[in-house]
Amino acid sequence: MVIETQTLILGAGLTGLTVAAGLNRLGEAPVVLDKSRGLGGRLATRRVGEWRFDHGAQYLRPRGPQLAALLDALKVSSAVTDWAAVDDGAPAYVGLPGMSGLVKPLAEGVDVRKGVRISSARREQERWHLYDADGGLVAKSRVLISTIPAPQAAQVLAGHPLSDRIASVVMDPCWTLMAAFDERPDLPDISRAPDTVLPWIARDGSKPGRGTETWVAQASAEWTRDAIDLSRQDAAQALLAVMRDRAGGALPNVLHADAHRWLYSQAPKPLGQPCLVDRDAGLVVAGDWCLGARAEHAVLSGDAALAVLQDFAVAEAAAR
Ligand SMILES: Cc1cc2nc3c(=O)[nH]c(=O)nc-3n(C[C@H](O)[C@H](O)[C@H](O)COP(=O)(O)OP(=O)(O)OC[C@H]3O[C@@H](n4cnc5c(N)ncnc54)[C@H](O)[C@@H]3O)c2cc1C
Repeated sequence: MVIETQTLILGAGLTGLTVAAGLNRLGEAPVVLDKSRGLGGRLATRRVGEWRFDHGAQYLRPRGPQLAALLDALKVSSAVTDWAAVDDGAPAYVGLPGMSGLVKPLAEGVDVRKGVRISSARREQERWHLYDADGGLVAKSRVLISTIPAPQAAQVLAGHPLSDRIASVVMDPCWTLMAAFDERPDLPDISRAPDTVLPWIARDGSKPGRGTETWVAQASAEWTRDAIDLSRQDAAQALLAVMRDRAGGALPNVLHADAHRWLYSQAPKPLGQPCLVDRDAGLVVAGDWCLGARAEHAVLSGDAALAVLQDFAVAEAAAR
């Protein structure tokens, strides 16, 4: 059945759910569509048996008041906690029981439809029409808020006058290793090594409530580009070999090793404005990539989109 609603949000990551939670507070009832089976987008947690791996964002650190306020609220819901291993001065926060848990309170009471992948969105007869890969009509709405990564948004909105600007934002790929060992490797909880194959190696199991030797390591964009066509298993083995070198040439027994390929992980050169707006068409395009490469930028972009939507509502009421 085709979904018909006033306001559709594409993407149930931190940007989309920031907008959705805000609209819900204002008494709107947006519908959120996401291709994944879970919530959170790049605030991601992979569960494998007893193990959990945060294979996307590693931790959140507020630089400004908006993310700080959100984290304070999420602490009350027991959805975030401090990760003491990041001991470089300022507190670092992680989701509970994994990073994806951080967005759950934002999604409370929101109509999220999971497993819905949109291939194109077109404005026809004063409504947004969203289609799947087979050209089937999935949803119709008056207002559309896209919060998906820039390259995906450019594809979905191909033909719209904003699509060239959206397509100008490049997002780096990132192979991420997820490994579990029977003992602790000879590495600190966190190793940062910029300009190497693995700029980030972390003992994910040192996050509160984990207590296992689970490790996450993220490859550089350069290495990932060269290795983009590897299978998951080959990427995992290649990154384990790099991790072994970093651990002095030996690792404990590997109980599990897999890799996840983020085609669009972070935008090194963001758009430079909080969101893009086509007021006449009822379109707002938002996402972390508008302002930066961190989760905080998702919140800032989501808040900016929300302010624009409130303007839409005021203008519409005045026109009636
Ligand atoms: C490897 C990695 C490490 C990172 N490390 C950190 C870190 O340590 N600290 C930090 O602050 N940030 C980090 N980030 C960035 C952080 O994860 C993002 O800034 C933030 O999660 C972006 O949220 P978003 O809602 O804008 O986008 P997303 O989280 O990408 O949400 C977009 C959603 O849209 C959905 N979607 C996409 N296309 C479609 C479609 N066609 N149809 C339907 N649904 C679709 C996706 O499934 C996804 O759920 C990292 C990211 C990665 C990948």
